[in-house]
Amino acid sequence: APSSSILQVKGLAAAYGKINALNGIDLEVERGQIVTLLGANGAGKTTTLKTISGLVRASAGSVTFDGQDITTLPAHEIARMGLVHVPEGRHILRGLSVRENLELGAFTVHDANLRRQRMDEVFGLFPILKNRQHQDGSLLSGGEQQMLAIGRALMHGPKLLLLDEPSMGLAPKLVLETFKIIKRLNEAGTTILLVEQNARLALKLAHFAYVLESGSLRMQGEAARLRDDPSIVQAYLGT
Ligand code: ATP
Repeated sequence: APSSSILQVKGLAAAYGKINALNGIDLEVERGQIVTLLGANGAGKTTTLKTISGLVRASAGSVTFDGQDITTLPAHEIARMGLVHVPEGRHILRGLSVRENLELGAFTVHDANLRRQRMDEVFGLFPILKNRQHQDGSLLSGGEQQMLAIGRALMHGPKLLLLDEPSMGLAPKLVLETFKIIKRLNEAGTTILLVEQNARLALKLAHFAYVLESGSLRMQGEAARLRDDPSIVQAYLGT
């Protein structure tokens, strides 16, 4: 049956040696939405994203993206299909300019005109990156590096963006700025799966939420419903 979901995860499990990090989770991301994945440290959020994007091999279960089974595909092929992962930490390459870091993000795009067009779009979204395009990417501030990491992902023209704790390590003002950018990207048509420590903000932004605990899903629902339920907020979203 046709589904409005761009991503369907079924019974997904992953392990690091003998440590089971994911115990078989089911989740879906509807086209056009922001879905957030919440949970305490070590709950398995990063592992979920890595298993979806092919950086970690699933030990069981399946991942279907845009109607295709991608469970066993290599990460670069998954990225080429338009499922792009912005990992935790910003991974800006030292010794490369801002512009070169962005160009690196476009390795899946062979059309030079399209690359230029995407770069213009990224510069439109993040004028600071345009101003600093010839500067070493590693000299940018934390918030600017986060913009560069997202900009680099946008160079692929993603259909689905996986964002792993984009607000980590940022000053409060920049956290809000980053969340605004995520909202704008979504309004411009990008579907987003967002892992966040900042549950309150993530639930404000997202349409739908999943809560992971020790490698299993404990709860799911419309973000607005979770946000407004004090027992849920207290039990799972603390802080
Ligand atoms: P955090 O919010 O702290 O980043 P998380 O929810 O993203 O946590 P994961 O990073 O997915 O959690 O980790 C899930 C479990 O797998 C944890 O018990 C963690 O210690 C373990 N783990 C993660 N990466 C590895 C690894 N490379 N080798 C061994 N164990 C790992």
